[in-house]
Order: sequence, then structure tokens, then C-alpha cells
Amino acid sequence: MQEGDAGEDHCSHTKGCKKMNDLSLTAATHDVLVVGAGPVGLTLANDLRRRGIRCRLIDSAQEAGAATKAVGIQAKTLELLAKMGVAHTAIERGLKTSLFSIYSDGKRLVRIDFREHLQESPYPYALMLPQHETEQVLTEHLQSQGGAIEWQRELISVTQDEQGVEAGLRHPDGKEERVRVGWLVGCDGAHSTVRHLLGLNFAGTTSELSLAVGNVRLTWDLPSDELFAFLHQGNFIGYFPLADGRHRVVIAYEPDKAPTGEVTLQEIQQVIDACGPAGARASEPAELTRFHVNQRRAEHYARGRIFLAGDAAHIHSPIGAQGMNTGMQDALNLGWKLALMVRGQASARLLESYEAEREQVGEDLLRGTELAMRVALTRNPLLLALRNALAPIFFSALPASAHRLAETLSEISIAYPHSPITVDQRDKKGTLHAGDRAPNALVRTREGAEPQPLFEIFTSERSILLVLTAQQEAAAVERQWGEIVALLSGGYQEMIEAYLVTEKATSGLDQETRQVLHDFTGELHQRYEAEQGGLVLIRPDGYIGFWGQFGATETLHGYVKALFVPGGEAQL
Ligand SMILES: Cc1cc2nc3c(=O)[nH]c(=O)nc-3n(C[C@H](O)[C@H](O)[C@H](O)COP(=O)(O)OP(=O)(O)OC[C@H]3O[C@@H](n4cnc5c(N)ncnc54)[C@H](O)[C@@H]3O)c2cc1C
Repeated sequence: MQEGDAGEDHCSHTKGCKKMNDLSLTAATHDVLVVGAGPVGLTLANDLRRRGIRCRLIDSAQEAGAATKAVGIQAKTLELLAKMGVAHTAIERGLKTSLFSIYSDGKRLVRIDFREHLQESPYPYALMLPQHETEQVLTEHLQSQGGAIEWQRELISVTQDEQGVEAGLRHPDGKEERVRVGWLVGCDGAHSTVRHLLGLNFAGTTSELSLAVGNVRLTWDLPSDELFAFLHQGNFIGYFPLADGRHRVVIAYEPDKAPTGEVTLQEIQQVIDACGPAGARASEPAELTRFHVNQRRAEHYARGRIFLAGDAAHIHSPIGAQGMNTGMQDALNLGWKLALMVRGQASARLLESYEAEREQVGEDLLRGTELAMRVALTRNPLLLALRNALAPIFFSALPASAHRLAETLSEISIAYPHSPITVDQRDKKGTLHAGDRAPNALVRTREGAEPQPLFEIFTSERSILLVLTAQQEAAAVERQWGEIVALLSGGYQEMIEAYLVTEKATSGLDQETRQVLHDFTGELHQRYEAEQGGLVLIRPDGYIGFWGQFGATETLHGYVKALFVPGGEAQL
């Protein structure tokens, strides 16, 4: 079901799918309309397309912009982009930064080494790549899959019924096109037309903070591949290195202390002189912008067959470099669920979990960035003294707090323990829970093969079921695997791929009939805290959806039945 199919007047995926057949009567040529070709819309279009979904991507702008916006891709986003096959291109074009330090009044408060804290992620760094280049990478990938952005198509109206969505698109010559699709996703930014048309509130605060940003060349003694933030008496400046040797500087002011008018090199130099580092000189200013930060979140991320993702759903301070990343992860949370729904292989419950999971992430992000800004910009002498005295002690005496900060910034810590589609059936739970990001580990696909990271083996778009066998007896393993094979052959193979994970050497096991991973060091069992073995279902977006004891096939069956529809019968 690719875009080349456009023009068909029936859905090829709708065998046995009555509701989708109804939709096809209105001549829908695409399953999903993605509105907005910023980083979020591009991510979603790429993900849907690789899953074979007919998807149309429109944008009201004339062409791609090059505005000064996001500059960093975080580790968790890179892990997801790797599955889509675009991480390596982004990495080639960007700059890896593993170290992040915060200074106040010339004294270092904290230094985070991502390599130390993200040891099992293949990407223990933040990748510095300007947003327009990230969009370029995503656009090229979309084109390589035969997709394209339709520029100068503005969404102006939208209605929906039980079977689909009807959208009005304005063309540059003023003509209006009516489009019928199964689903619509508004990735149309902070001023989202989709959100307005749905009448959804965008509650929060306006102009809490004023920012000045720009790119400069710095002459200083500090390393040119590290991230720095310098604070001084209510002033903040962040230095983000770029691959071309320059730096993106981000200056934050309290609203009543902010200069007005154009940002100038002189203004940037004044803040550098005030905050540090001492003696640093800025030159060659470019892309200077001033703007106010709003902190807002849409009251809902979904209404029927219409969804919001990215800035259309949440906006906040860019200080923690999270906005674009969170939006791209919204898209990748939604993509696999929507694709299954389009194919009639998902229950309504699976799709509804998008809103439950991502609203919570948006909420936490707003709270976190608000607090971080208050701490960074405080002028209160008592709070300043406390912050400057306690932060170094706190972070050095409690390594767990530095670890937590690293995991938060890299978005590795995002988890869905309370999601309606997370189930943890184990009697004894450890530190890793269902809903957490699935950890990586080195395994062998056969005896004597080169060890490979788990993440590199799982490139399919399906969920992965790990049958962790630990020290279970051969007969028990045989029985467990037989039950899993029977379960999946009940129509779930298109959604779930199972692997038998053994600690013992794999010789003697029949590799023709089962997919075996050899956990030759026991690292995988250890990371998954599976001394007794277990059943772990990893979702396509890399989170643990189900966790059961070894032998809990019945409970797993209940979980799978609640979320997936064998044979493609839609349940909306
Ligand atoms: C100065 C600055 C620095 C930032 N730094 C970071 C950072 O370091 N890290 C980070 O993660 N985030 C950062 N952000 C946030 C990041 O830029 C945004 O979160 C990101 O752009 C959101 O992407 P999006 O695709 O949701 O929306 P957008 O990028 O706004 O894209 C929306 C698209 O929708 C189109 N559109 C709008 N209305 C319609 C319509 N009616 N019909 C059709 N198309 C429409 C627009 O033309 C646009 O192309 C920063 C933001 C700013 C301003």
C-alpha cells in the first residue's frame, strides 16, 4: 500500500474489514493524511511508509524552512531513528557531544558524562544537528522510499464520521481540494489548525520567558565538542557546539529583564561577559532571533480519528533541547499503532493508548522545564546561595542524581508503567519494570557468530517476544516454546516475532524451527533481571509492553488478544 497506489478506489487491505470497505466507497486514496512537514510530520510519514501505509504529507509553506530552532537529537530519538534506517545519516552529518557541564559564577556545579550514564545505549551522547538538517535527512529518506512532501497545501477544514475523515486543502491558486482519508494527524506546529478546528484548548502560560538565540564563532579555552550552560544572578547562556566549528548560543531572560528589538552581537557578548566563561569572545553572528517561550499543552491528543503530535500538542522552553525530540517520539509512539489499525490488526484500546502515554510525557516535560528554568534563573539570594553550594555536593555525593539527569535529558528515562497497555504479571519485580525502555545487550544469533547488539537484530517493524529460558530444564523450554508457537500461529505472526533466548550453548537446538539468541555472557538475562527466565514482549517503539513469568502463556495470550486482531478485522 504505497503512494503509487493512489487512484485505486478500493482498499487492498480490507479483506473482511467491513468498516474500511465503507470508507473506500468515498474514494479514499490514502489511509492517513499527515498535516505539517516539520520534523514530527516527516518522522511519522517515514514510519508509516516503511510499514506500507498509504500516507499523504502536506505542508502550507512554500518550501522547507531554515529557521533557527532545535539543535540536538537525543539518544532515545536516535535509537528510534536507527530502526527507521536514518540514524547513521544524521550521525554522519552531526557532531557527537558526550559531556555537559553547568557553571554558576565561574564554579562548576555539575558535569555529566553521557558515556558513563548511557552505557548500554548505542548512542551515549547528544547529536548536534540543526533542525533544518534533521528535516533534510528525513526528507531524503522519505524520498528514497518513494514518498514526497506536498508543499503549498494548506489544511483549512476537517470533519469526521465513524468511517473516516474529510479534509479541505487550499492550493496556491486558491482552489480547494476535498480529501477523504481513514485517519488524520495534525503535526502542524504550535499554531495548529487541526487543534483549532477540533476546538481543543491549549492551556498553559504565555511569555514566561524571553530567549535570544543565534549562531556565533567562539574564541575560548574550552573544548569545542562539549555542551555548556553558564549561570549568573538570573542570567543563563547555553553553548551548543555545531559540526562546522561554530556554536549555537541560547540566552534566557526573565520576561521583565529581557532587552527588546533585534538581537545583536553586542548583547550576546554582554551576557557572555556576565555569565562566563571569562575571556570568551563571540564573532560572526548569524541567524539571530528573539522570541517568547510559552508553556502549553493541548487538553487532548486525540479526537476520534484525528490526532495531534509534536508542537501541535505541547510547547515549552527549548532549554533542555526536548521539544523536537518529544514530538518525534510522539510520532513514533503513534506510527506503529496507527499502521496496525489501518490494517485492521489493532484493537481500539491499542490506538487509544497513544493519548494516555504521550499526554503524560507532555505533562512531565512541561513541569520539568518549568522547574529547571526557575532554578536556573533565580535571583533570590538565598536560593542562589543554596543552589550554588548544594548542587556540586548533591551531584557528586549522589551519583544516582547525575545518572537521572543524564537519562532525563537523553529521554532514555521515558517510560509507560501506568499505560493501559502495560502489563507486569511477575510475582517478584526488580528495578526494571514493564513500561520501561527495553535494555540493549550483546547476543549471538548462532554459536560462534559475532556478538551483536539486540537492537541491531530487531529491525523488523513487529513487536518482539523474548522467551528468556535462564536455567530452565530442556523439557520445560521445549513445552514453553511449543505454546508460544501455537499462540502466534493463531494469526499473530504479522504482529509479533518470537525469539528463544538461551544462556546455554545453542548446539542441539533445532534452529530450523525456532529463532534462537545465545546470551553467551548472561548479560541479557541479567539486564532483564530474569534469573528464572520470563516472557518479555518488546513493542516496536522499544518499550516493554508485557512481562510475564516463564510459563505464563495464558496471561500473555490474554494480553495479545486485548491489543491485536488476528486476521485483520478492525474493531472500531
Ligand atoms: C529557538 C528554538 C530552539 C529550539 N531548540 C530545540 C532543541 O534544541 N531541541 C529540541 O528538541 N527542540 C527544540 N526546539 C523546539 C522544536 O523546534 C520544535 O519542538 C519542533 O519544531 C516541533 O516540530 P513540529 O513538526 O511539531 O512543528 P513545526 O516544526 O512547527 O512544523 C509544523 C509544520 O506545519 C506546517 N503547517 C502549519 N499549519 C498548517 C496547515 N494549516 N496546513 C498545512 N501545513 C501547516 C508548517 O508550515 C510547518 O512546516 C527549539 C525551538 C526553538 C524556537
